[in-house]
Amino acid sequence: ARARVLVIGGGYGGATAARYVRLLSDHQMEVVLIEPNEAFVSCPLSNLVIGGSRQIAEVTTPYDGLARQGVTRVKDTARAIDPQRKTVTLAGGATIGYDKLVLSPGVELLFDSIEGLRAAHDIGRVLQAWQKAGPETIALRQQLEAMRDGGVYAITIPEQPYRCPPGPYERACQVAWYFRNAKPRSKVLVLDANPDVVSKGALFKRVWSDQYKGIIEYRPQHKATAVDARAGVIRFEVEEDVKADVLNVLPPMRAGAIAVQAGLNNMAGQRWCGVDYVDFQSTAARDIHVIGDAIQVAPAMPKSGHMANAHAKVAAAAVVAELSGWPLTPEPMLTNTCYSFVDDQRVIHVASVHAYVPDERTYKAVGASGGVSPAPTELEGRYALNWARNIWADTLG
Ligand code: FAD
Repeated sequence: ARARVLVIGGGYGGATAARYVRLLSDHQMEVVLIEPNEAFVSCPLSNLVIGGSRQIAEVTTPYDGLARQGVTRVKDTARAIDPQRKTVTLAGGATIGYDKLVLSPGVELLFDSIEGLRAAHDIGRVLQAWQKAGPETIALRQQLEAMRDGGVYAITIPEQPYRCPPGPYERACQVAWYFRNAKPRSKVLVLDANPDVVSKGALFKRVWSDQYKGIIEYRPQHKATAVDARAGVIRFEVEEDVKADVLNVLPPMRAGAIAVQAGLNNMAGQRWCGVDYVDFQSTAARDIHVIGDAIQVAPAMPKSGHMANAHAKVAAAAVVAELSGWPLTPEPMLTNTCYSFVDDQRVIHVASVHAYVPDERTYKAVGASGGVSPAPTELEGRYALNWARNIWADTLG
């Protein structure tokens, strides 16, 4: 029988892995992708939908390209993995066996680590739009549109590591851009559990003081502990309570629920999945390769779509090599670029290169290989849009 590679999750990591196993096996291996959503909706660029300069359709791509590569897509949710029997059971009841499993379930938001947040989320009062772009992105945009001029939008940021280090700061810029044009008496509060801006700090701070002076206020060392949805109040471990009209509370995160079900979350207080970085094989179970945001990343590696796409290619090459009896690519080299829109046109970036160091079995950032933009420009805005087009084509075909 043909080898079967099962992929759970059709996001940045999983869709790329599915496509590359087909390509690298010369379309010989069977690839089955399990993903409940009808289309791929990108978190990258989704902050522009919240700012109002883009529509959700512009960040949505159908899965047809994967079908053209011969990937079989099962529109369902994986409920349980049995690593001993090498089977996955779906919510719909079916059980599928695998030779290799690639798991890219993204993150689970730990609502219960902030008192009152789960209930406030479930009634649609306090949104995140972080675990998945789509209806929640639109709902958050609608909350901003419904807010009175003179109101306050507050975003809270959990301690590192979380999905997309610059993402919350980009979102603050997008909301401030909207307010400046449409509701100029309104304010953006950035309430950060970290001691300072986690990514592109100097650049973001300059944008906030030049472009959004009097609109964005940044407060470090604010670790949210509770929300009172009715009063519109966020409480913190140490600092004073904050009242706001639109509350965008991002709780701490961990590996997607299915990875936890399978017991693969063996790192950092059970939050992330440990992998052997040479092939992304789980350190908890054989023949399961975990990629993307769900893993314990190597030092200086961000949880980004760009990195998930890069992990996927290393994992796909390893899976195809192992199932074919070929030698493994010994020293993978990965890259990352994260662009952030500071308004509807201008962009800043951070880039890095990560080389696998066999002796230490980890990735290390290559000295002087990366860096950040000198300042926001429209040219980088064009690069950012082309980055998105390229990675969507590479991920989805
Ligand atoms: P995801 O892309 O989230 O994919 C996980 C998939 O798994 C989902 O489709 C989900 O439906 C599916 N799934 C989960 N559980 C199951 C299950 N049990 N069964 C079947 N399917 C399942 N990154 C960048 O590189 N650049 C950016 O500019 C950028 N901007 C961002 C802006 C925002 C606002 C946010 C929130 C994130 C941003 N990111 C950016 C980060 C990027 O979105 C993530 O790092 C990336 O999506 C991680 O890929 P993944 O495959 O791990 O998870």
